[in-house]
Amino acid sequence: MTVAATPATVGKHPCPECGGDLQWNAAKQALVCPYCGTVVPWAAGQAPDPGAGMVENDLQAALSHPDSGRGWGEAPGDERREVQCQSCHAISTFSDGKVAKRCDFCGSPSIIEHQALSEAITPQSLLPFKISDGQMRESLRKWYSSRWFAPNKLKTAALTDTLHGVYLPYWTFDAQVSARWRADAGHHYYETESYRDGQGRLQSRQVQRVRWVPAAGSLEHFFDDELVPGTAGVRPKLLRQIEPFPTLTDLKPYSPEFVRGWTVERYQLDLRQAEKINEQDLLQQMQALCGRQVPGDTYRNLQVDARVQGRTFKHILVPVWLVNYTYGSRNLQVVANGYTGSIAGEQPYSWVKITFAVLGVLLLLMLAALVMGGNAA
Ligand SMILES: [Zn+2]
Ligand SMILES: [Zn+2]
Repeated sequence: MTVAATPATVGKHPCPECGGDLQWNAAKQALVCPYCGTVVPWAAGQAPDPGAGMVENDLQAALSHPDSGRGWGEAPGDERREVQCQSCHAISTFSDGKVAKRCDFCGSPSIIEHQALSEAITPQSLLPFKISDGQMRESLRKWYSSRWFAPNKLKTAALTDTLHGVYLPYWTFDAQVSARWRADAGHHYYETESYRDGQGRLQSRQVQRVRWVPAAGSLEHFFDDELVPGTAGVRPKLLRQIEPFPTLTDLKPYSPEFVRGWTVERYQLDLRQAEKINEQDLLQQMQALCGRQVPGDTYRNLQVDARVQGRTFKHILVPVWLVNYTYGSRNLQVVANGYTGSIAGEQPYSWVKITFAVLGVLLLLMLAALVMGGNAA
């Protein structure tokens, strides 16, 4: 039985020069000592067993032993604190005892200390930040200048002032699903039908009909790394736009060095809730896969009896860059994938610009009409 990696198995790698706790540096793509500046390539700080973080955990075992495999696996110098935003309810955790004055997700100043009933499940793996804050500021500026309808004052540097790097929680599930299905398979055929047209003449036409034939079959499918986000802080609509995170190929085993100095969002959709969402999703996908197996041109009364087996899960962290700002009374969020760099954001529209654009188009249309009218005369 494999349960989530316990903090004891997570590698601890102090700075080889001064013994300080290393931190992940996105620009250098290496671990860096914040005290003496020593750069340690990640390979050297790897977990003792490189495959250790990639282990899939047995879902049943984890659900029946809810207390195992928790915590962040921290160094003695780490001081983890959790705060919850009273506005968007996101829970942020910090390893260095320094707590932000405003919520990283929505910018609200009303944040309070969060007392968790138990520690969060230890992530098995994560995607470390690949895009540095410098690169992010640069591409955010470009992104904003391409937003034609955005008010000008948003295109100034102030926008990137609130840039924060945050690790978001995700659950990923694997499962083997076997299904038996039965349905009525519909085969199209055509009949010639006579009718009278508007003038009362006899005409004939082809009409499509369906012949229904009972059909049945079975299907096996392996679902690999199906993702369920556990975040409360990032709006789902934006999250979908910056996915995918290359979690099948580029995950690294979790190690506290990667998250030290970065904010980590604590999941609020827990394993039990995520597992239910995933199961519904698998069954829905299975229904569609079976539907595709039904022979003929169409089908009805599809009944799928599916068995989900060998379910495993991982808890992983993925990197995002966040910018939030208020515009008028609205609180707006811009999110970027910290690994691929893709950006999605809410933006206000400048009604002045839009009005001028609409007026401009109307003017052109009027001119065009005048010219055409002139030619016609
Ligand atoms: Zn050092
Ligand atoms: Zn918030």
